Amino acid sequence: MCPTRKFKTTTRVPQFQESKDARIPLQRLIRGALNPTSPPRLAMKNITELTKRIITFRDARDWKQFHNPKDVALSLVLEAAEVMEHFQWKSKKEMEKYIITNKIDIGEELADVLYWVLLMSHDLRIDVLDMLEKKIKKNEEKYPVEKAKGKHTKYNKL
Ligand SMILES: [Mg+2]
Repeated sequence: MCPTRKFKTTTRVPQFQESKDARIPLQRLIRGALNPTSPPRLAMKNITELTKRIITFRDARDWKQFHNPKDVALSLVLEAAEVMEHFQWKSKKEMEKYIITNKIDIGEELADVLYWVLLMSHDLRIDVLDMLEKKIKKNEEKYPVEKAKGKHTKYNKL
């Protein structure tokens, strides 16, 4: 009898159970993340659920006591600086190469920024998705396509 056979079970144990996205094999996710030409695969997770998870994470560690708006804003900016750090001193060509091999690390820093955005929005009772929609609308008005297309000029100088 094959020695591995005795361990074979008839019950199929799912590899991943955490979420729908977690069922995608890790290799495929990494391949997608490293492919510079593939569009980003957005998980489309519910922002409310993600915020709840962040708050649960914080509460389990009793960290709310440290989270005043000033220090949370500071943390947000520090994480944004960690995103910038990836590109510091690199030429355009170096950056292109770097992005391909470091997409996961860059993504982690972007996720850190989003973490603080969601946490701060929660604490200040701001509906950040609603605000984003309003800001997009505002920017559409500030930068009409016919005036702004192909230009990097600030709206008040268009
Ligand atoms: Mg970080």
